Amino acid sequence: MSDSPQPLPDADLLAWSVVLEYRAQQQRDRIAILLLPFPPCPTCGETVLSVESSRSFQRDLDSQRLIMRPCEHVYAVTDDDIQRVQGHAGDMLSAMRAVDNGWGGERAWTTAEVAQQAEARIGKPAPVGSDPGVDRQAVVVLSALHRSAESDVSRVSALYERWVKAGPPPLGTSLSRWWDRRLIELHDAINPTEEKPR
Ligand SMILES: [Zn+2]
Repeated sequence: MSDSPQPLPDADLLAWSVVLEYRAQQQRDRIAILLLPFPPCPTCGETVLSVESSRSFQRDLDSQRLIMRPCEHVYAVTDDDIQRVQGHAGDMLSAMRAVDNGWGGERAWTTAEVAQQAEARIGKPAPVGSDPGVDRQAVVVLSALHRSAESDVSRVSALYERWVKAGPPPLGTSLSRWWDRRLIELHDAINPTEEKPR
C-alpha cells in the first residue's frame, strides 16, 4: 500500500463526489437505510467500507485527502479537480433527488449506475497515441463551412456597396419591379450555385 496520495481520474472523482454528497444529504435527512454503497477503490478495485476525508494543511492548502478503508489507498483532490466535475455532480444529484421525491425517474440509482453515468459524462481518458482522424475530419468540415459563410457575407456586402452607389430608383420606375430585382440579386448573392430562374 502506498502512502503517497495520487490524483483521482475525473470520472472516478465525479462518481465519488456524487456518492459522498448523496450520502451526506441522506444523513442530513436522517434516512439511514437507503445509503448508496461506495464505489470500489479505483486503484485496487477493493470494496471500500469507509472513507476518511481530511484537509491537507501542509504544503498544498487547496487540496484534501481521501483515504479508502480498508485498503488505505490515499487520493489527493484539489479544489480545481472539484470545480471541473461539480456541474455534472449537481445535475446527477438533482436527478437522484428527483427520484427520491417522486418527481421523475422510476427508481433510485445504484452505485454502479452512478459510476456509469459519470463515465458517460466525462469519458475515459483517451489512450495514448489514439487516432485523431475523426477530429481532423470535423476540423476540415468546420473550416469549409466557415469559409463558405465568409464568402456569403462578402458577396452580400459587395451587393450592398453596389446598391448604395446606385442610389434610389429613378423617378417613374415601378417600385415593385425595382424591389423584385433587388430581391433576386440578394437571393443570388446568398445562393450563387442555384439555377437562376429568369
Ligand atoms: Zn485501494
